[in-house]
Amino acid sequence: MAEPLSVLTSRFDMAEGHTLEGYVATGGYASLDVAFGQAPTDLVQQVKDAGLRGRGGAGFPTGVKWGFTPRDSGKPVYLAVNADEGEPGTFKDRELMERDPHQLLEGIVVACYMLESRRAFIFLRGEYVWPGMRLEQAIAEAYEHGYLGKDIAGSGVDVDVTLHYAAGAYICGEETAMLDALEGRRGQPRLRPPFPAVAGLYGMPTQVNNVETIMNVGHIVQHGIDWYRSMGTDKSPGPKVFCVSGEVARPGNYEWPMGTPAREIVDRSCGGMLAGRELKFWAPGGSSTPLLTADHADTPMDFDSIAAAGSLLGTAAMMMYSDHTSVVEAVLNWTRFYEHESCGKCTPCREGFFWLSQVYERLLDGRGRPADLALLDEQGDNILGRAFCALGDGGVSPITSSLTHFRDEYEHLVAHGRLPDGLEAHAGVVTDNSGHSRPDQLVGSP
Ligand code: SF4
Repeated sequence: MAEPLSVLTSRFDMAEGHTLEGYVATGGYASLDVAFGQAPTDLVQQVKDAGLRGRGGAGFPTGVKWGFTPRDSGKPVYLAVNADEGEPGTFKDRELMERDPHQLLEGIVVACYMLESRRAFIFLRGEYVWPGMRLEQAIAEAYEHGYLGKDIAGSGVDVDVTLHYAAGAYICGEETAMLDALEGRRGQPRLRPPFPAVAGLYGMPTQVNNVETIMNVGHIVQHGIDWYRSMGTDKSPGPKVFCVSGEVARPGNYEWPMGTPAREIVDRSCGGMLAGRELKFWAPGGSSTPLLTADHADTPMDFDSIAAAGSLLGTAAMMMYSDHTSVVEAVLNWTRFYEHESCGKCTPCREGFFWLSQVYERLLDGRGRPADLALLDEQGDNILGRAFCALGDGGVSPITSSLTHFRDEYEHLVAHGRLPDGLEAHAGVVTDNSGHSRPDQLVGSP
């Protein structure tokens, strides 16, 4: 049986864990000396051999990605840390930055050394005011005490960090849109190739990595590959912060080895589902990952097992819903989110989520038509694989998966004009907060 971990979250219970004094007193910045004594390419190989996979959603092997950055182009190399964290249900990076901001800075210095980069940017979600204050304080302390800036710890290594507050758009969590936003432009995804590793920020080789990914790097360098691989599974090693929300007794961030079954995390860390409620459906990695059911609750939470179950690990943001909740209402809520956050660059996404919201609102208003389920299938098909970036596919995921697993609930809505007995209407879910007209005010809704 797996046990909870205290690696990335080891300072969560410390009052002064966010300060330089508290950080150094508990072993912080120890990986710098270890790293500076080795060749950068050897360290990248260690990250590869440790099997670290990106914690921001895609799960791509970090060391392999770092190998794509050219070292002899004569251009500056940039590290861009993605701290935008806009995926609904995801709040791990927020707490990691709030409670342990130096852990991120240490990872940045080591990663920059590996990439032969002298400049890192942190692209921070604009709403993250408190993590931003903690980061500002930590950056100032690190400069003052020689952990950032020129000749770090007498090593000859220079690393500067710029903290950039984002303006608040979900799409800017997409790495190329993030780079556009960092350059001061409207954040929209770029056509690839070229990939950022070769031509990213200001056209220079750029590595984009998630906060939690970078925080893993110092631990790998300091403690070694075998230690890292002693946690998690062969293909998804290491510690993972799972952020659990929804109808559980104690929502929050909990650190476990990769591959721990979802049920174990919910039962042992969260105190199970709320009293009197049974798990009905859940998203394993944020709202853009296909929904799973109670039958999947024993699936190990790692990239390959969740994929085999028909979903994606994503950010490992486990959103848990009970038998009291309507899956159709939940999906409407998410669909409105994607409608609102569509950047507008491509037609399937820009138009598609608007019309999908209309159909959902009609169903929940009791005006559903027998043809509406086929219409949802068709509209989803017109987005899936046809949109410019992953937002399109991600936004369709809860729709198609809920139609697969809970079609009977949709059919009940169409047949009776109301939710099945026992399902609660949730305040806010049916409230139009996206700024568009209600369906009964529209002419020519599908
Ligand atoms: Fe923008 Fe298209 Fe991506 Fe939607 S799928 S966010 S419209 S680029």
